[in-house]
Amino acid sequence: MRTRAEADVVVCGGGTAGAIAAIAAARTGARTLLVDQYGRVGGMASTGMSFLGVSDAGGRRALGGIGAEMFERLQTLGAAFADRPDKQVGSVTVADPLALQHVLLTMLVEAGVRFLLHTVCADALVEERRVRGLVLANKAGIELLPARAIVDATGDGDVAARAGARFVLGRGRDGVMQPATRIFRVAGVDIETMFAYLRAHPEEMDLPERWDGSGYTAEDLRTTSVVMDAFPSLVARSRAAGELTVPRDRIGVETGPVPGVVTINATRVHGVDGTDPDAVSRAEIETQRQMFEVFWFLRRRVPGFERAWLLDSAYQLGVRETRHILGGYTLTLDDVLSGRDFPDTVARGAYPVDLHDVHAGAEVLGTTVGGGGVTLRRIERAYGIPFRCLVPAEIDGVVVAGRAISASHEAAGSVRGQAVCMATGHAAGTIAALSCREGVAPRRVDIAAVHHALTEQRAVLFYEPGGPASPQGAASLGSPTAL
Ligand SMILES: Cc1cc2nc3c(=O)[nH]c(=O)nc-3n(C[C@H](O)[C@H](O)[C@H](O)COP(=O)(O)OP(=O)(O)OC[C@H]3O[C@@H](n4cnc5c(N)ncnc54)[C@H](O)[C@@H]3O)c2cc1C
Repeated sequence: MRTRAEADVVVCGGGTAGAIAAIAAARTGARTLLVDQYGRVGGMASTGMSFLGVSDAGGRRALGGIGAEMFERLQTLGAAFADRPDKQVGSVTVADPLALQHVLLTMLVEAGVRFLLHTVCADALVEERRVRGLVLANKAGIELLPARAIVDATGDGDVAARAGARFVLGRGRDGVMQPATRIFRVAGVDIETMFAYLRAHPEEMDLPERWDGSGYTAEDLRTTSVVMDAFPSLVARSRAAGELTVPRDRIGVETGPVPGVVTINATRVHGVDGTDPDAVSRAEIETQRQMFEVFWFLRRRVPGFERAWLLDSAYQLGVRETRHILGGYTLTLDDVLSGRDFPDTVARGAYPVDLHDVHAGAEVLGTTVGGGGVTLRRIERAYGIPFRCLVPAEIDGVVVAGRAISASHEAAGSVRGQAVCMATGHAAGTIAALSCREGVAPRRVDIAAVHHALTEQRAVLFYEPGGPASPQGAASLGSPTAL
């Protein structure tokens, strides 16, 4: 079995959080290696979905730093729309997914990150409850990779879980998780015709609770990103005709910067455990079937889609929720909705609490749901995410980033948002690099040093009392307002 040379920081997973974490670690001076099971970066954020909650409903910017720099570069290339304020979801920002991958790769290479792709992190090398490296599986067989610090950005907390960290699956009490969905894109859509239909049939924009989608114009749909849950009557009619079996009441449609191309969020499989390979295999097959079913529904039933074609599918099934790795603190729904600050805040979040019905008859935030819908709660003031949520409670040597950080099922409905994952990725990469520089375990890194490094890199940490953060996302280290 081959043993590779030791790296300072190994980032496991080059997705939404991991790509940003690797850039942050390398810019903070660590020899950084990025490992991913695929030959690409960007993860779920590179499938064409809009970034919601880059700013909160009060207009305060939550994502600064490396994530904000990525958007600035994309806008310079003409491959992203500027943030559009939205009362319900804070803001909507969207980029061409291929350009997003290109910009992330460019930033990784510029930062000096090395890559080990088509490689699965299969296990953790643990000594006395400290992760010392990874067991990798790739075309060369099984390899050992020693590392001084690891960022677990696998989305599922694979490394932390293999190392023995405690975690909660989904809702914890019954292990039920949010449903899985395959995202896909459709080209050749006549946006004007689709919009004319929606304007003539306002009931078809029957948006989720408190989702303020009113007031859009066809121009908005063409020149900014608009996220809609639409066409409930057409869905009902199609279901009654036996054409549509997908358990969704509406079709999620997102416009973007590529003319005539929309992203579709409509397939759904309940009860999938994304850490169970057999369950994931079944859901991959089912969502590939559903993708064509929804596509034919759009072509047959929805004005504007008559001459559309299927452009591409996400590189894999989209898993919204699996493990929440238990850290020194678990973020709660109240923390998220009240915009709480913490003395050890290392990132901010403003993605709405976004809970897809886990199953028919389930109770979601006090309401019994039908199984085909989504429950949303807006974030009035972006909340802080403490350092303690990124470090597993009993295991050293690993920092968690992305959707697997320590949060309750409801709070994770917000933490999982792409902008929030980028912010926790920025923090995790910086903490891992500082742990190498200071020669201490990640949990022992001085919080003042973390705040200093993140501030230098324009991350948003705290807001000045009463005032919004600057639109550029510059950090300010004012006093936290609450614990
Ligand atoms: C269907 C769906 C719709 C969504 N809609 C939106 C939306 O509209 N707006 C929004 O902001 N957010 C949305 N989200 C949430 C958001 O996209 C994700 O929660 C977020 O991108 C997850 O980021 P991550 O870095 O934690 O994981 P990912 O982006 O999934 O990255 C994980 C990376 O780790 C790699 N990896 C995993 N395991 C291993 C391993 N063992 N070894 C090696 N590599 C590994 C993967 O290949 C991948 O590159 C949606 C999510 C889903 C699933």
